[in-house]
Amino acid sequence: MSECLFCAIGTGDIPADIVFSDDAIVAFRDISPQAPVHVLVIPRAHHANAAELAAADPALAAALLETTGRVARQEGIAETGYRVVTNTGEGAGQSVQHIHFHVLGGRALAWPPG
Ligand code: 5GP
Ligand code: ZN
Repeated sequence: MSECLFCAIGTGDIPADIVFSDDAIVAFRDISPQAPVHVLVIPRAHHANAAELAAADPALAAALLETTGRVARQEGIAETGYRVVTNTGEGAGQSVQHIHFHVLGGRALAWPPG
């Protein structure tokens, strides 16, 4: 099994509550939700962060962003508003070194984030 947690979710070796998947992308509920809707959108391929993904595979980066919108519509938060976040690096709180977009919604979201 991969040593990367999200690679292992991508292959199905580690289970997740999946809300959308295709050949290249998996979207699943965060294990520790910070809002009524909290979904993570990942590529099955390993890339450490958004900048590295965009440099290596811009079409996949675009497809991931498109999927955040699909998830928002599917979860019923597209109209009320939602936030797409990707933490990069330790100082920003990135705890899994495999690019993931958080899709958060279903409550009022403070700005700026902490
Ligand atoms: P980060 O802190 O890197 O921006 O976000 C990592 C996210 O992954 C956290 O919100 C955390 O709750 C979530 N997470 C960590 N381990 C698991 C897991 O095993 N399953 C799921 N579904 N989410 C996880
Ligand atoms: Zn990975």
